[in-house]
Amino acid sequence: MKSIAKRTGFALILACVLLFGVLAFAIRYFLFADRWVSFTGNPHVYTNGKLNTGEILDRSGEVLYTSASDQTYSNSTSLRKATLHLIGDKAGNIPPRILRAYASKLFGYDKLNGTAAMETGGGELRLTISAQAQAVAMQAMNGRKGAVGVYNYRTGEILCAVSSPSFDPLDPPNLEKDNRDGRYDGVYIYRFFHASYTPGSIFKLTTLAAALDAVPGLADESFTCTGERIVNGEKITCPKAHGQLTLRDALAQSCNCTFAEIALRTGKSALKGQAEAERLTENIEIDGITTIRGHFDLSDASDNDLAWAGIGQYTDLVNPCQYMVYMGAIAGGGTAAEPCLVASARSGGRETYAARTEQTPRMLSESAARTLREFMRYNVTKMYSGVDIPGVEVCAKSGTAEVGSDYNTATFAGFIADSDYPLAFIVVVEEGGAGSSTCAPIAKTVLQACMNVLDGER
Ligand SMILES: [Zn+2]
Repeated sequence: MKSIAKRTGFALILACVLLFGVLAFAIRYFLFADRWVSFTGNPHVYTNGKLNTGEILDRSGEVLYTSASDQTYSNSTSLRKATLHLIGDKAGNIPPRILRAYASKLFGYDKLNGTAAMETGGGELRLTISAQAQAVAMQAMNGRKGAVGVYNYRTGEILCAVSSPSFDPLDPPNLEKDNRDGRYDGVYIYRFFHASYTPGSIFKLTTLAAALDAVPGLADESFTCTGERIVNGEKITCPKAHGQLTLRDALAQSCNCTFAEIALRTGKSALKGQAEAERLTENIEIDGITTIRGHFDLSDASDNDLAWAGIGQYTDLVNPCQYMVYMGAIAGGGTAAEPCLVASARSGGRETYAARTEQTPRMLSESAARTLREFMRYNVTKMYSGVDIPGVEVCAKSGTAEVGSDYNTATFAGFIADSDYPLAFIVVVEEGGAGSSTCAPIAKTVLQACMNVLDGER
């Protein structure tokens, strides 16, 4: 009897182990089967490492890439160049990140029927990107290195995410031979998502957001700029003495001396908290693309360093996409839609994915957002009237970041405050000189192209 009881107990334990194993497999299958089947070694899905089914379209239905039989790109050279970093190149130097992330939705895999839908003709992936706006942005960059981004801060759709330089994937450069002048330096990097830059004065929008909450009554104060300010025995300088300034004019004139004072009064912890609220030092995942994190570290900063950090220099680095989302949050009263690149996926005649709008965490207080929005509008009317677009309110800030003794990064960021055109933007040009003169005209051209896209969809 004893041994029967023993055996029964043993059998019960075995049954439990089996049941547990089956359950664990079922859960893992449910969670990860899409990923398992999208593994690039799966011969049902990939040929020579390339996805063997499906099309990528832009938001208007323009076919950018077909991977059904051979890898074919758009017929237009300018569209191929403008969308290279989104699609990937043939040699695999620029990986097809979006395609990989959505492979299972594209070839119609589902948990009951496996990859059966592939036989009915593959699928299509529709991006939120406008190929036309991309091409306009690429042309406006005119070979200069940098990034241009525009997104709808209400829906999250990225309309334009350009990285320059680029090349035609059907006629790739031989870098050894063709890059003697450096024109293709870093060409495989998707700068909009994977580069971080010294922001320069656009970062004053971060400092000001922190200061408006940390220093009560700041918005009503006035400041005096003599052209230089000594902090810790070292100089903070402005290009000229700005004289007596309201806070609004200090931002419009981009007065370093005033912002040095503001950064010192705001303090390390509030500034750090603001950079964290904007997620500047985090990686954000956007439809298969993970943004590079920026840098904002005041742990060893002297007062002079702290002042320069508040001006967007010191060791500050921001990623263009992340800062564009912050622009959206200012426009949106403190939060914005999370950015996305894929609108929908279809396979075998049915929709397998549709993007849903999600909100970012709060990046700044509602009252700080209101003040910044008003100040950024004043910036445009007072300083950058050339970028203004009739009928809408463009709000912006420029920056000229000093990276080396004769190397500047030009930046320009902002948004349109209009419910019909809820667009946030950023333009970064490496070795670009002044942000307002280099980047503002590019921003205007690309914004107008994006507004035309939205008009065409109404
Ligand atoms: Zn000044």
